[in-house]
Amino acid sequence: MTLIFTPLGIRGIFGDGIDSLLVERLSNIFGRELGAGSLVVVGRDTRPSGYVLDKAVVSGLLSAGVNVMNVGIAPTPTIEWAVERYGADGGVIISASHNPPEWNALKLIGRGGLLLHPDEMERLRKRFETEGFRSVSWKDVGMEEVVDVTEEYLVDLLSYVDVDRISGAGFKVVLDVNGGAGAYVTPYLLQSLDVRVNTINSSPGVFVRELEPRPDTLRDLSRVVTSTGSDVGFAHDTDADRLTLVTEKGEVLPEDVTLALVVDYVLERRGGGILVVNVASSRMFDDIAKRRGAKIYRTPVGEAYVAHRMREVGATVGGEGSCGGVILPDFHMGRDGPLAAAMILEVMASRGKSVSQLVDELPKYHTLRVNLPRQRDWESVRRDLISMGERRGMEVDLTDGVRLSDLEVWGLIRPSKTEPKIRILVESEDPSKAEEFLEEIKRVVTGG
Ligand code: MG
Repeated sequence: MTLIFTPLGIRGIFGDGIDSLLVERLSNIFGRELGAGSLVVVGRDTRPSGYVLDKAVVSGLLSAGVNVMNVGIAPTPTIEWAVERYGADGGVIISASHNPPEWNALKLIGRGGLLLHPDEMERLRKRFETEGFRSVSWKDVGMEEVVDVTEEYLVDLLSYVDVDRISGAGFKVVLDVNGGAGAYVTPYLLQSLDVRVNTINSSPGVFVRELEPRPDTLRDLSRVVTSTGSDVGFAHDTDADRLTLVTEKGEVLPEDVTLALVVDYVLERRGGGILVVNVASSRMFDDIAKRRGAKIYRTPVGEAYVAHRMREVGATVGGEGSCGGVILPDFHMGRDGPLAAAMILEVMASRGKSVSQLVDELPKYHTLRVNLPRQRDWESVRRDLISMGERRGMEVDLTDGVRLSDLEVWGLIRPSKTEPKIRILVESEDPSKAEEFLEEIKRVVTGG
């Protein structure tokens, strides 16, 4: 196994791809890139290997003459928020998010709390290939300060949402943090909102279910929501940038519903605005933007692309539909699970509706997702897909992979960045149109 260096960060299995030495050297190069005397916020999720990698990251940075504000175990959004609020020059987040427990990863943050742009990551990758670890002189070594910022983050978050409205609604919620960093924030957030909260799988570092919050991994949460007569269930991944919803009837919702409900509410309240989502996000975001009089931009897949475009165009709201990530730039520039939970409760309280009723009001699409092994080189697959789209008179968009669309159906076909696979996503209001189009794409991709 080797270290996987993607435009969005590095990751690998601990001890078999990612280890302290690699992480120490990368952090050292990142620190030198920022310059001696810079300030970097470091934090991590609850994986056991995070403790070791934290030491390595801090060592790499201090040796580069960089000062460290170590926030310890905290959700990814809390760390991103801290970079912005403390005016730090960068951040290092040690978390493999929804990947299995043996994995770990680094996400690098730049000034303003934004993930490094893929171009900046590429520059670091090149330096990483050629440069070793280098220390400043003994008198220029950086200083580390250990700070718990969770309370301050919570106070700031509470000033962003309508506390009175949520408190008055008497909600009952089940929260599944699955031993992740959300355990340190979201239960306290919900208590501050006068929500009666039952937290399950709440011991930090104990991963009871698979780490990715999906319908097949959230059966326990679904059962507890219905057996306790709760209004909604919330589930985070290990670093709590995601939020998946379970309705009062126990139905686990597709992750883009979280973003859609928040986007619709925010755009309505602001009387329009600017929305940024990636090219893999549902067409319902176009419908929502249209009905709320907002402009919509689409980016390549990846939080860094979304966040940088949001900053560029001065977006009102944005995120990545496919993984329940909500970004509200007035608060900070990263996907935020605890914020999404509070916003969902605000939507429920202000509309006076249950989660199921709110979902019924969203545009409905049938979505199919398939991964195929990559049997032919991507360039020829890409060429064949473009000519198929042109033959069918479809719009061809090459923002990320190939996106083919007409009024009835659209599909996105792109090579995986980490595995020899082609990812296919198809969506239509009409399930049979989606199935037909998927079959046609599969034939082109396999060359059959
Ligand atoms: Mg995550």
